[in-house]
Formats: sequence, structure tokens, C-alpha cells
Amino acid sequence: MKTFDFDLFVIGGGSGGVRAARMAAQRGARVAIAEVAAMGGTCVNVGCIPKKLYSYAAHYAESFEESHGFGWSGTAPVFNWDVLRANRAREITRLNGIYNQLLANAGVTIITGWATLIDGHNVKVEEQTFSAKNILVSTGGTPTVPALEGREYIVTSDQMFDLEPFPKRLLVVGGGYIACEFASIFNGLGAEVTQVHRGEKLLTGFDHDVRSFIATEMEKTGVRLRLGAEVEAISKTAAGLQVTLQAGAGQVTVDAVLYATGRVPNTNGLGLEAAGVKLSHKGAIEVNSHYQSSLPSVYALGDVTARLQLTPVALGEAMVLVDHLLGPAAGKKRRSMSYDFVPTAVFTHPNIGTVGYSEEEARKVFGKVTVFRTDFKPLRHTLSGSTERTLMKLLVEDATDRVVGLHMVGPDAGEVVQGFAVAMKAGATKAVFDSTIGIHPTLAEEFVTMREPVTPFASD
Ligand code: FAD
Ligand code: NDP
Repeated sequence: MKTFDFDLFVIGGGSGGVRAARMAAQRGARVAIAEVAAMGGTCVNVGCIPKKLYSYAAHYAESFEESHGFGWSGTAPVFNWDVLRANRAREITRLNGIYNQLLANAGVTIITGWATLIDGHNVKVEEQTFSAKNILVSTGGTPTVPALEGREYIVTSDQMFDLEPFPKRLLVVGGGYIACEFASIFNGLGAEVTQVHRGEKLLTGFDHDVRSFIATEMEKTGVRLRLGAEVEAISKTAAGLQVTLQAGAGQVTVDAVLYATGRVPNTNGLGLEAAGVKLSHKGAIEVNSHYQSSLPSVYALGDVTARLQLTPVALGEAMVLVDHLLGPAAGKKRRSMSYDFVPTAVFTHPNIGTVGYSEEEARKVFGKVTVFRTDFKPLRHTLSGSTERTLMKLLVEDATDRVVGLHMVGPDAGEVVQGFAVAMKAGATKAVFDSTIGIHPTLAEEFVTMREPVTPFASD
């Protein structure tokens, strides 16, 4: 029988790759992981973690402002971009070290460099070749920017964390997760932010009420939204980067232009197709329910498969794959992955938290749906002077009374929705919500005290 250097060779040390490598090694497999950049991937280095740290930083501006109504006074503190960047960089370096340590402790061989597939059992990293029984491709994704005049002047989210100098005037293109989050963050940090989105509403795919509500709230915080607008060209002038909008919609002069127009799978230059791994028309690796590609010994998960591009999804997939390849851990059941009711948050200011179906989707899937909706001024803002409001919405399938959609725009919405996601995975009905005692006074209690349905919306 042929012997391999490794049982599993993982290409890409991001959320999914690190988790799969570590779990497989802990299960007794001989595992190697190749990473070309810093260990931890997008989430740790240029995604979730630095983004959330910057979001915390941005929230202080409003907290200082709001503290006056609670009796605090004094000179407003001054924000120092260099300090934030340095502290973030230090923390990320610490996390990179922890990831490397966790892998080493589990017995994973760490290989630094760009890995390419030679065939279903052989991988090349720089000048070295390694053989493996199975190969996992978890190479993530990368920002994509449309062709445009002046493309050389734009940056993507990868560069935003270390921009030099701080962009006092920022133009953000896109209306998705990254565009909305960075518009909120840089607005909070003190930049004058204009967000240009081609659609009439932000956040395609989210519930229609959430999409309208967040636009209003972001505008209240100072983000200038230009909806239904597109960039024609960017040029450099003495006054800054001059961004011309299409159809004579005007010009905006800024210090930096962030394009957040989506991400594409990292499948170029990996030798995938030559080795026989089938890609979709969007360049994503096609996999079956066991994350197996068209080349049976090659697996793929996470953003490179372009399904739900979220860290916890990549982590979940990795654990399911390890169970599939090596069997479940001693005394544990084999894990399975469900893409239903995956909760998600958008770290705008205020946050969005959501789980389950939007009203539009729920009506399509379940037919008759009852909607409960409330928006109100949170208790905190009775004294803070802020005009921020909070939105909460429940969608209930009439036939079963099951809660099939739960949406929130408001402070810490992600924290609130995570707990409700458990209830919804468990199939909680509206009657269960109604019989749950609230925690008073909180925002979250509104989800268990909504009694009167609202009339269905006229589709927009
Ligand atoms: P990645 O984490 O991208 O890892 C892929 C790794 O493969 C990289 O380290 C790369 O260097 C390496 N690699 C690529 N090619 C090769 C090669 N040939 N050889 C060796 N190494 C290679 N998700 C959330 O859930 N919550 C959030 O708040 C959130 N915020 C985000 C904010 C931003 C700005 C971005 C960009 C993303 C955010 N995401 C968030 C999404 C999340 O980061 C991704 O879904 C997640 O990182 C995907 O994990 P992955 O393992 O598939 O790939
Ligand atoms: P998204 O797919 O969320 O949004 C892309 C945006 O760019 C959309 O508004 C889209 O418009 C717009 N767009 C696309 N092409 C063009 C174009 N040619 N010209 C103008 N606008 C264009 O991608 P992101 O880059 O924001 O994020 C990628 C993924 O990363 C997310 O989908 C998410 O899964 C993950 N992520 C998760 C986060 C979280 O969990 N908090 C945070 C950040 C990222 P339209 O809607 O009209 O198509």
C-alpha cells in the first residue's frame, strides 16, 4: 500500500483550515498546513477581529457625546489613529502566535509558502513536494473591484486597517456588509464618509424593514448615503481624489476611496483545474455535502466554496469534514452542518442582528406569515440626547406558529440575536416566545413581549 507523507494536507491557514488541521491532528492524523501569509487568515488579520476592534474604537465617539446627558462633562477626548493601529497590530500578532502555537501543540507540521496542487495526492510548496492521502483547499477569498478609470487610486478592506494618513474624507463604494461596516466605523472615528451604492437600498438579501431602517440610522450618525448612484471615474487632483458619479450625479472629493464590491474565491494559481478540480462559473470550488470536490481526495470548505462567507460557517464545515474523514471524536456523535437559521450580524452603528428568513423570503417559502414589528427609542437615549431608534421584528409561520425570522437593528444586536438563534434552531413557536419571561429593563425583552401583529407590507 502506498504511504503518504501526511494523512491530510491543508492549503490555507484561515478560519477553516486551522480548525480542520488542529482537529484532525488531535484525532491522531498526520497533518500539515501550508500558509503563505500570517496564520489565522482573513478573519484574524484583515477581517472580523481588527474590524470589531475598530468598531469598538468608533463607538467611543458617540459614548462620550451621550455621556453629557448622564451628568458627565469635560473636554472631549481626542482620537489618535496611530495608537489604535499600533494596538491592533500588537493584538493581531499575538493572535497569530496563538494560532501557530495551537497547531504546533496539536502536532501539525506548519509549512510557510504558496502551495499548489500537483495532483490529487501531491502538493508543491516553493521547491518542496509533499504527498497526502487527502488534501483540503481552504484558501478563502479576496476582494474584487470592477474595472474603472482611476482604479489605481482605490483601496480595498485589506488596506483600510493601516491607511496612512487617516482619511479625513472617505468615499465607500458598495452596499454590502463591508461597505456598511467600514462606512460606520470611519464615520465614528471622525472621517467625513460618503457611501455610494448602486441599489436603492443597502444590504441586498436582508429584510426590507432592516434595509430601510439602517439607512435612516446611518444617515443620522452622519454617513452621507448616495443610493442609486455609481462611480464613473476617479482622478487625482491637488484637492484630493476626485470621484465623478455616473449620469451627471456630481463629484465628491475625498482622501481615500474604499471599494467593497464583493469577494471572489482564491482559486487562481493553485493548479486546481489542471489537477481535475471542477470550479463553478464564479471560480468557486464545487463540493458535495461532504466538502469533496470532483477530485475525490481533494476537499474544500469556507470562502473558497463561495457559500456563506462567515467564519463560524467555515469552522463548522471544518469540524464536519474532520468527522467525515476520521470519524467522530470518542464518545461524540458525528457532526452535521445545516445552513438553515445561520445567524449573522452586521457591525454597523447601530448593529444589525438577524437569523432566519426575511419577510420577502418567508412569504415565498411558507405562504402565510404573521409579522410582529416594533421600533422605539431605547431607555438609554431618554437621557443621552441621541435620536437613535431600535427595530425589532419577528416573522411567524401561520401554519405551525414557528418563528422563522428574527431581525434587530440596535445596540449589540449580534449579542442579542445569538441567543434567540438557539431557540429558533430548536423550533421555538411564537407561543414559546410569549410564555418566556423578559429580562427587564433590556432591549431583548421586546422579542418576548410583542403581541400585536402588523399589517402585511406592500411589496417594495
Ligand atoms: P480565510 O480566512 O480567508 O483563509 C484563507 C487562507 O489561505 C489565507 O490565510 C491565505 O493567505 C491562505 N492562502 C490562500 N492561498 C494560499 C496558497 N496557495 N498557499 C498557502 N496559503 C494560501 N465573518 C464573520 O463571521 N464575522 C465578521 O465579523 C466578519 N467580518 C469580516 C470583515 C472583513 C473586512 C472581511 C474581508 C471578512 C469578514 N468576515 C467575517 C468573513 C470571514 O473573514 C471569512 O468568512 C473567513 O475568514 C473565511 O475563512 P476561510 O478559512 O474560508 O478563509
Ligand atoms: P457583499 O456581497 O456583501 O456586498 C457587495 C456589495 O457591492 C453589494 O452591495 C453589491 O451591490 C455591490 N457591488 C457588487 N458589484 C458592484 C459593482 N460592479 N459596482 C458597484 N457595486 C457593486 O460583499 P462584501 O465585500 O461587503 O463582503 C463579502 C462577504 O464577506 C459578505 O458577503 C459576508 O459574507 C462576509 N462579511 C461578513 C461580515 C460579518 O459577518 N459581519 C463583515 C464583512 C464581510 P448589489 O447588492 O446591488 O449586488
